[in-house]
Amino acid sequence: MLHAMSRNTGKLGAAQAGLFADDYLEEPYWWSAAPLSAADGNTVPGSLDGKADVVIVGGGITGLVAALHLARSGCDVAVLDAQRIGEGAARRNAGFVGRTLKRSVEWLAERSGREHAMKVYRELDAALHGVQAFVERERIECHYQTCGRFIAANSKAHFRALIAELEQTRQAVGFDYSVVEKHDVHKEIASDCYHGGAVIPDLGSIHPGLYHASLVRKALDAGVRLYPLTNVVGVDHGASGKTIRTSKGDIAALHVVVATNGYTSRNLKWLARRVIPFRGFVIATELLPPETIDKVIPRRRTYLDTRMNIDFIRPAPDSSRILFGGMTGTASSTATPLAGALRDRLVKILPDLKGVRLSRAWTGHCAGTFDFMPHIGTKDGVHFALGYNFAGIPLGTHFGEKIAARILQRGDTSSVFDVEKFPTAPFFNGSPWFVPLAMRYFDWHDDRIAKG
Ligand SMILES: Cc1cc2nc3c(=O)[nH]c(=O)nc-3n(C[C@H](O)[C@H](O)[C@H](O)COP(=O)(O)OP(=O)(O)OC[C@H]3O[C@@H](n4cnc5c(N)ncnc54)[C@H](O)[C@@H]3O)c2cc1C
Repeated sequence: MLHAMSRNTGKLGAAQAGLFADDYLEEPYWWSAAPLSAADGNTVPGSLDGKADVVIVGGGITGLVAALHLARSGCDVAVLDAQRIGEGAARRNAGFVGRTLKRSVEWLAERSGREHAMKVYRELDAALHGVQAFVERERIECHYQTCGRFIAANSKAHFRALIAELEQTRQAVGFDYSVVEKHDVHKEIASDCYHGGAVIPDLGSIHPGLYHASLVRKALDAGVRLYPLTNVVGVDHGASGKTIRTSKGDIAALHVVVATNGYTSRNLKWLARRVIPFRGFVIATELLPPETIDKVIPRRRTYLDTRMNIDFIRPAPDSSRILFGGMTGTASSTATPLAGALRDRLVKILPDLKGVRLSRAWTGHCAGTFDFMPHIGTKDGVHFALGYNFAGIPLGTHFGEKIAARILQRGDTSSVFDVEKFPTAPFFNGSPWFVPLAMRYFDWHDDRIAKG
């Protein structure tokens, strides 16, 4: 089995003693139930077999969903990943399953027409319900719950804007929500930070580790070949197919799929110039008594706020602890240095958690895009799906199915997110040096709105 990299309190300074529980590890909470194991194909990789019908670059949700569908339809599929299988964002995310998009229906309608805006939101809805149906159909035990999401307004002005946007969306595409006035916030979350909010009842949550681990097992059962620690450095195009050049040698294929999202490496040049990688950070508390969870988040939903750079909270699937994320885009390559600041933010929101210690902190790469939209398409005959802007669980599942349908030329292959324009910016080569600055701009922007 490949070597696991975790860090525990043994290596941490005394000043942090009250911060970390004895079992603290710097690794995703999800890896306890879904470790990166030999069962995930993480055995020491041999050399590549010479050819496959389809080569998929990236063994996250998108890559494995595509691989599973293709292999079950008789294709010989090889999935190549530069890291261990499961080491990407698929087993590092927060497990919120929603219709997340930074652009509102009205914003899209003003710029590209109402019809287009409605199509965008309908496809997001199809992706949300698609992942739920997929989990049921495949009997994937990943704690999928339609728990509902509480969106907490950071100011009165944010509250007005939130309700206006939700009402416009309801009128355009029928998505349900209910208003939570300020005096009722404590029924949702034991916090005085918010000025009301709204509940979206049909949004869900999963255990992302178990979801991805199940995809791996199903893909292996279907005959997919997995190659961990195999870095793709380029794709050459020939008359009869493509040659994929990797750190482990070459492999030929009729079709190539790039499903690398926030980990898109710079040698995938055209895509690397369009995907903005940035870091998300999450902490998990130590074990908490059920009374504490009942008190702080009695309805056990997922929770986030109305700022561009959100804080987010959820219970662990077994309600044994609380997971919290924030400080997205901070320039730190590890999570432990931010753990104290993240705990302070959590306690500011939920003062009942004062003094809580942490059992996990971790980070992973998300992917933004210059138009804030996810993208699926083909460039020089190579299929791609990425740029999920924090919505990769439903969209990765949805686009994985779409790409398989496109290669098989069967089923519904269309997507409103397949557009000719996939913007980049001058001099951007994949290095996200400007992300911390952008986050500071978003904070300033949110404060301006809050002042109304
Ligand atoms: C902290 C955090 C919280 C998040 N929370 C949520 C959430 O609550 N809900 C939600 O929907 N989404 C969330 N996301 C986003 C979500 O995890 C991703 O959008 C999702 O995993 C989709 O990406 P993927 O699974 O297809 O690819 P990933 O799992 O990111 O895998 C991509 C893989 O590509 C590989 N790769 C890259 N370049 C190469 C190369 N040249 N050769 C070979 N392999 C390569 C990488 O090694 C990597 O393993 C979050 C992300 C993070 C980091």
